Amino acid sequence: MTDAERYDYDLFVIGAGSGGVRAARTAAAEGAKVGIAEDRYLGGTCVNVGCVPKKLYSYAAHFHDSFDDAAGFGWQLPGPATFDWATLRENKTGEIKRLNGIYQRLLESAGVTLYNARASVVDAHTVVLHNDAGEQQIHAKKILVATGGWPWIPDFPGSEYAIDSNRVFDLETFPERFLVLGGGYIAVEFASIFNGLGSETELIYRGELFLRGFDQEVREFTRDEMARKGVNLHFNTNIAQIEPSNGAYWVTLTDGKTLEVDAVLAATGRHANIEGLGLDTLGIRLDEQGKIPVNERFETAVPSVLALGDLIAGPELTPIALAEAMQLVDIHFKHTTPAPLDYATIPTAVFCHPNIGTVGLSEEQARERGDIRVYRTDFRAMKHTLSGSQERTLMKLVVDDATDVVLGAHMVGDEAGEIMQGIAIAVRAGLTKTDFDRTVGIHPTGAEEFVTLRSVSRR
Ligand SMILES: Cc1cc2nc3c(=O)[nH]c(=O)nc-3n(C[C@H](O)[C@H](O)[C@H](O)COP(=O)(O)OP(=O)(O)OC[C@H]3O[C@@H](n4cnc5c(N)ncnc54)[C@H](O)[C@@H]3O)c2cc1C
Repeated sequence: MTDAERYDYDLFVIGAGSGGVRAARTAAAEGAKVGIAEDRYLGGTCVNVGCVPKKLYSYAAHFHDSFDDAAGFGWQLPGPATFDWATLRENKTGEIKRLNGIYQRLLESAGVTLYNARASVVDAHTVVLHNDAGEQQIHAKKILVATGGWPWIPDFPGSEYAIDSNRVFDLETFPERFLVLGGGYIAVEFASIFNGLGSETELIYRGELFLRGFDQEVREFTRDEMARKGVNLHFNTNIAQIEPSNGAYWVTLTDGKTLEVDAVLAATGRHANIEGLGLDTLGIRLDEQGKIPVNERFETAVPSVLALGDLIAGPELTPIALAEAMQLVDIHFKHTTPAPLDYATIPTAVFCHPNIGTVGLSEEQARERGDIRVYRTDFRAMKHTLSGSQERTLMKLVVDDATDVVLGAHMVGDEAGEIMQGIAIAVRAGLTKTDFDRTVGIHPTGAEEFVTLRSVSRR
């Protein structure tokens, strides 16, 4: 029996998110016969309940500052600016529908067969699809599990009243008082978003300081700037219980404080979305990090079953899922050996206000490796000389003292993500501080500080 007789597809992908769609399209472009199942939304987390709606809401929140800043530049608004949540929410939904359509057309034009169904794996080459129409068995030479992550909320009294990041985008009414539980980037971003949109915002985090793993100075600077913008930060505490009260919620903290709020967002982590997938029966189990172990060919314990994206170890970011998809197709369908992904120089942004942009090693990580020089500056951006805003910007470079190589670059400030993308190329290329110094600045910008930092701030 040939493969074509034995299998319906060369590749069957479960989950049409960032990684799944990219793998399906690029494998099909290599001549593979590809099918894909999606049970919820085309484009996955990023398009529907992640990066895209989050960034749109972040833009919306920035207008708050812009209206305040405008007066110093001579602009007068006819009256106080008002915000309409329903307009933002519906416009966001319209844009996501447009993107869902684009994803559908991309798959169709690549020749990928799309099934609107929930899939589970029954053996090394068989997938069962379930939807209202019933069940269907598919045989595939290779199965790619790309089902991403799902928000997780810890169990505590009243935890059922907390919403997760999937639901926060579509709240029926705008929460005048908003509470976020968590200390990761999603928590920090939503605290900034709702604060910017006009909610009285509380952020509760059980640890000393949010954004664990980021450069310590960046974390402290962000804390101070977010507090300056009006987010009420509560560290070293947690939610003890949530009780409903007249359409609102009384939240009791473990330190005894009580807060009355209109919505509680638990941004308390995500876990691998594998419920009902049947991986257990194949002997594919999560590791102690809650991830599916794969080898460098993205093969699980069952070599014909592959996995990528948020399901496997590594940063949970869309560009990582996309890069892994390209590598997987190179390996399995182009039969080439791609250079391994350089996980050490993955740039990332946190869209809190002001934004964080970062690439490479934090000062603490670099110090553990050897002697370093730190170049840093913090300043009030030129725009704020007239706007009157007290917002400050932080920029820093972490440099290996012996080799002069820039090991890390960090920024907290306007458009930090946009700026860091370019700096990341230099850090990825292993350029030295001397290379940075020899680069002519673009004046007048904030970004030029990255090439004009001359004096060592500390060693
Ligand atoms: C609030 C939030 C903000 C984020 N912001 C950013 C950001 O700014 N930048 C960034 O890079 N990343 C961001 N991310 C992370 C990013 O969204 C993920 O890293 C990325 O989507 C992972 O892609 P994936 O392909 O692994 O899975 P996903 O994109 O999650 O796709 C998985 C798909 O599988 C489907 N599925 C699951 N089970 C089944 C099944 N049994 N059958 C059929 N289909 C199934 C799901 O419905 C989903 O569509 C954010 C995430 C969140 C939650």
